Amino acid sequence: QPLISTRALNKIYRTQTGEDVVALRDVSLDIAPGAFVTVVGPSGCGKSTLLKILAGILARSSGEVSLAGRPIDGPSRNVGVVFQAPVLLPWRNVLQNVLLPIDIQRLKRADHEGRARALLKLVGLAGFENKYPSELSGGMQQRVGITRALVHDPDLLLMDEPFGALDAMTRESMNLELLRIWEESRKTVMLVTHSIPEAVFLADKVVVMSPRPGRISEIIDVDLPRP
Ligand code: ADP
Ligand code: ADP
Repeated sequence: QPLISTRALNKIYRTQTGEDVVALRDVSLDIAPGAFVTVVGPSGCGKSTLLKILAGILARSSGEVSLAGRPIDGPSRNVGVVFQAPVLLPWRNVLQNVLLPIDIQRLKRADHEGRARALLKLVGLAGFENKYPSELSGGMQQRVGITRALVHDPDLLLMDEPFGALDAMTRESMNLELLRIWEESRKTVMLVTHSIPEAVFLADKVVVMSPRPGRISEIIDVDLPRP
């Protein structure tokens, strides 16, 4: 069974001036559990829209979309989301930021703190638990964002240009790190990027979206040795 499945998925935005903007048109896609999928395409082709629908934070206009066989009808603990800029609370230290989703849902911190610490180690932030966001580099802040997205141990990690705000060198090392996290945590990852080299480097499946907005132009299976 695919982890993600969409059939004839459509999204049309109605703008404030009453115009209709087609953002997704007839998108049908199956993603197997454990895959590393990248979504690539020019600005405005609908990449973010697709991710937001999968994240359950944006309603589709028509069609079907499901996660592990169940229709997606809202945010789920089984999906972690990382956006371009990590939104960390400056008055909370690293560990407290990672535990934010636990606090928001009024779960017991004690049940999740061990896992949060282990994840921080996995992303190379052991020893930084008590630091504040302002004391961290941009790359480290984004690693905190990734850790926070993983705190519920979701099956699916959605990332929208997660390293887009970082310089090229940092970005490259973050991509390598992300592959390591993916290999160790066995998540299904779907990552949006506008960089074709990055898309091919990271993924075992590349979804190419067409500049005719909202359509998939091809899906490429990549079979390259991992670094
Ligand atoms: P991408 O992520 O590939 O840049 P988006 O999914 O952000 O593309 O946008 C797809 C299309 O939908 C674009 O034409 C964009 O302008 C439009 N769009 C995105 N969000 C909205 C919105 N909230 N209201 C109206 N149009 C939108
Ligand atoms: P990206 O291309 O990285 O997806 P954008 O800069 O296109 O981001 O969009 C940033 C935000 O503005 C998104 O939340 C998107 O939904 C919204 N947006 C994009 N296009 C429009 C639009 N035409 N009208 C209203 N909101 C929009």
